[in-house]
Amino acid sequence: MTDRKPFETLVRRTGWPDSVSRAVATPIQPSVVYASDSPDELDAQYAGDVAGYTYAREGHPNADVLARKIDGLEGAEGGLITGSGMAAVTAALMGLLNAGDHIIGGDQLYGRSLRLMTQDLNRFGIATSLADPTDIAAIEAAIRPETKMILVEVVSNPTLRVADMEGIARLCAERRILLAVDNTFTTPRAYRPFDHGADIVIHSVTKLLAGHSDATLGYVAARDPAHRKAIYDFAVTTGLTPSPFDCWLAERGLYTFSLRYDRAEENARQLAAHLASLTGVKRVLYPTRPDHPDHNRAMALLGARGGNMLSFELEGGRAAANAMTRAMPELAFAPTLGDIGTTLSHPASSSHRAMSPEAREANGISEGFFRISVGCEEIELLMRDFSAGVAAAEAAGEAAG
Ligand SMILES: *Cc1c(COP(=O)(O)O)cnc(C)c1O
Repeated sequence: MTDRKPFETLVRRTGWPDSVSRAVATPIQPSVVYASDSPDELDAQYAGDVAGYTYAREGHPNADVLARKIDGLEGAEGGLITGSGMAAVTAALMGLLNAGDHIIGGDQLYGRSLRLMTQDLNRFGIATSLADPTDIAAIEAAIRPETKMILVEVVSNPTLRVADMEGIARLCAERRILLAVDNTFTTPRAYRPFDHGADIVIHSVTKLLAGHSDATLGYVAARDPAHRKAIYDFAVTTGLTPSPFDCWLAERGLYTFSLRYDRAEENARQLAAHLASLTGVKRVLYPTRPDHPDHNRAMALLGARGGNMLSFELEGGRAAANAMTRAMPELAFAPTLGDIGTTLSHPASSSHRAMSPEAREANGISEGFFRISVGCEEIELLMRDFSAGVAAAEAAGEAAG
């Protein structure tokens, strides 16, 4: 008869097996707490004299492994992984701004960033203005004596306008204003904000960096160590902590990031040309196309890296839009971006539904407007899908008209 082990032994006191070889893949460490040798050692950890984890909300190895890798891509130091891209935006803004400060945001920022700035920050006494980041005079005119930060995205959603990053960085340096850049769309493959005067870089890791629509995460890095500490403390206090499992998935995604990005970008370039050749397509927006309103700036800033995002406008309204998505059911009609597969979004019914139809029209976002996050499929397949979709939209338009 074998001895029965006490229950506690089975639960907690069996150690990790010894091995002289080491794992090639990063292990997942889900532990919430870490045990220390002694109060002296714990004291030394808290004082920062020795490296050691204490409690997962304050940091854990899977978040740190991922952060160091994104730091490497961005040329950053001490970046922080958060539980979502919005957590990263929140930590940067709420960690660094005080009541009485003023922040300027790009007027086409990600929808929830806009909401944070216009609906939430002002409840804490932080004033917000929005201005067009492609127009340096408009940004300059929005500056007040108490302006502390400017938050921009390099390429806007969904019209893919390219911000005047050089002009904004110069203005920020002259006026001693912090420049925060949400680099989600451009990614360090096309643009590295710290090389161009940014003070803070933000990512929704959920999108292209992780790349498989199975992990929700963010990243925020600051140039100034004092800013890093303020952002970190705010994130830890408010619990913006990421899950180790999500960090592990994102790290795995990151291994193929540059391969995915390059393939998706080449697909986007070809798909843009294909869409522009179809009757039934009114216009195509892709930053490096000669007919893009910011073509020259895109070439100068992004070095001809147009990225994977592409927008276009169908002739016809909602009926044409419905006919198109229904004619291409294998292509995910889903309001996200950066997945390994192509996804398609319709701003008028999703991200921009809260805007009045007049405001949408003023921004060029009609009922026929679609944004494509181009993925890594075979380009022939994508061209076939969109040919069928646009043809169905045209037929619906003729039936209606
Ligand atoms: C998606 C997105 C966010 C928010 O990221 P989540 O991970 O969804 O919280 C912020 N900025 C941009 C540009 C985004 O596309």
